[in-house]
Amino acid sequence: MSEDLKPFDCEACGECCRHIHLVEGLKHLQTNGVCDYLEGNKCRIYSRRPELCQYEKVFELYKNQYTAKEFYDLTVKFCNELKEIKRLREEND
Ligand code: SF4
Ligand code: SF4
Repeated sequence: MSEDLKPFDCEACGECCRHIHLVEGLKHLQTNGVCDYLEGNKCRIYSRRPELCQYEKVFELYKNQYTAKEFYDLTVKFCNELKEIKRLREEND
């Protein structure tokens, strides 16, 4: 039986949305990597944001490739890397 996907605790720092040039299916929404729908750290179209912006829906796309735990761990790793980039940028501002 497959395990359930653990909820991911996003701090809504907006950093994912500042690097969407890395995501093939979101690239068309960006200017210099930043999503055109990002306002401050908030998504202006949150309730109708693309599926690729939604953790659970992205897992549905990759669930043949990753277990729920692997996908959760990868998400945490990616998130931590992005938050570190944000921290370094703010330190240099
Ligand atoms: S980098 Fe992490 S905390 Fe920040 S918006 Fe993305 S998932 Fe959330
Ligand atoms: S659509 Fe919203 S959630 Fe998706 S990348 Fe843009 S600002 Fe972020």
